[in-house]
Amino acid sequence: MVTYRGAQNYLPDTLDLLSLETAARGCRGCDLFKAAEQTVFGAGPADAGLMLVGEQPGNEEDLEGEPFVGPAGRLLDKALAAAGVERDAVYVTNAVKHFRFDRAAGGKRRIHKKPSGGQVTACRPWLAAELDVVRPDVVVCLGVTAARALIEKNFTLTAHRGEVLHLDEELRGTLDPRVVATIHPSAALRAHVDRTAAFESLVRDLQRAAGLL
Ligand code: SF4
Repeated sequence: MVTYRGAQNYLPDTLDLLSLETAARGCRGCDLFKAAEQTVFGAGPADAGLMLVGEQPGNEEDLEGEPFVGPAGRLLDKALAAAGVERDAVYVTNAVKHFRFDRAAGGKRRIHKKPSGGQVTACRPWLAAELDVVRPDVVVCLGVTAARALIEKNFTLTAHRGEVLHLDEELRGTLDPRVVATIHPSAALRAHVDRTAAFESLVRDLQRAAGLL
């Protein structure tokens, strides 16, 4: 695994969301800043009780600079509405703040590429800082990358989806929110899955998480 310098040295002295977002724009903690358009930091109220953490920004998020504004984000909005969760009251972010992609052969299209373990680790100081500032009561990991960044390196959704868990010891510090892992909304958009069943299962997990508030 490639070892990166990590985001730690880019953290601001003042820990609030605006300072973090501003500082993250200049992060060079791993190589992902080189090809992406911009850092996509988390968004939402600093006093949110519920924090949702995805994997990384996608193509539209990278272009717009906002998390969860692409197809998966629109599906997440629908799932939150179906679960009775007010979208504007939730803080949403990603385990990795820059878009990792490959170029389609001969074309301009950018195809999502999963971030490496080293890149997730490099970016974790931003996630830890967001947790520290927002101090949510409940965290939902949307997909296994977020769950591995927050709960346990070898986490699997098949074994622990929907369970009420804790942050890993390193992140826990003085805060101990309940943590639930579910699928990433993009998993309910794939061609080969039963999309309705996947969407409904996501809604159920969001309802369960909101019920912990
Ligand atoms: S992905 Fe994270 S660690 Fe890497 S450059 Fe972007 S903000 Fe920094």
